[in-house]
Amino acid sequence: MVTIEGGFIKEATKMIAAKNNVPFGVNYPDTIIIHYTAGSSAESSANWLQRQDVKASAHIVIGKKGEIFQLVSFENISWHAGESAYGGRTSFNKFSIGIELDNPGFLIQAGNDFVASFGTKYPANEVIQAVHRNETAPRFWHIYTEAQIQACEEVCLALISKYPKINQILGHEEIAPGRKQDPGPAFPLDKFRNKILHSNRQDDVDEAAPVFAKGKVITDKLNIREGAGVEFQKVALPLPLNKELEVLGERNGWYHVKIEVDGWVSKAYVAKA
Ligand SMILES: [Zn+2]
Repeated sequence: MVTIEGGFIKEATKMIAAKNNVPFGVNYPDTIIIHYTAGSSAESSANWLQRQDVKASAHIVIGKKGEIFQLVSFENISWHAGESAYGGRTSFNKFSIGIELDNPGFLIQAGNDFVASFGTKYPANEVIQAVHRNETAPRFWHIYTEAQIQACEEVCLALISKYPKINQILGHEEIAPGRKQDPGPAFPLDKFRNKILHSNRQDDVDEAAPVFAKGKVITDKLNIREGAGVEFQKVALPLPLNKELEVLGERNGWYHVKIEVDGWVSKAYVAKA
């Protein structure tokens, strides 16, 4: 449960960035921007963003266990967006709340390990291979934890309830394409905002229990997406023939499945394993 009082999350660890004391204009914030830190831990990223000599900041940083650090009051502007443009507007700091998720970002394969820009190695079971929405070739990305995505969702819901002008959630990659890749394809951005911003839509109808719990792919390349429909972003490379899946539920002709990541696949191409 996340509660906001006087511009701060009650449950957060406060690490105040004294450099951010300019309040939002009357009709703002109206947007939430999701980022990854490209750092090694939530606390180290929060420490860095809070520093007086660093020309960047964010309202909050969310760690992998769902822990929250708050650096800037939600009443004030923080410096997370940089040069940015979307929907006919530019310079998103003045319109938006910045949420940083602790995540190293894209990784380079080295033998059995996957290495971040700062040298830390991550095991294969924490990595997905996926094509970024702004790119054409696949790369490796560190997964987000369920606790982290859940905390991010609770923060967004609390923000929307406190600041009802908020009506869009965007990735940094969408307001600064080419320059920024965060939060990247490991974050289920389309599904996330669809759920939070349109919670009364058909997409939120409860999924039905699946007919079987273990399935397998019966086509050469099966797309796995963030939601039950072709309009959703792909969350990983297409699944190969005979790939085994845990089937969690179904909705509108799609199965909700789990492999290294959560996703949705068309029912037509999955059989009982
Ligand atoms: Zn960013």
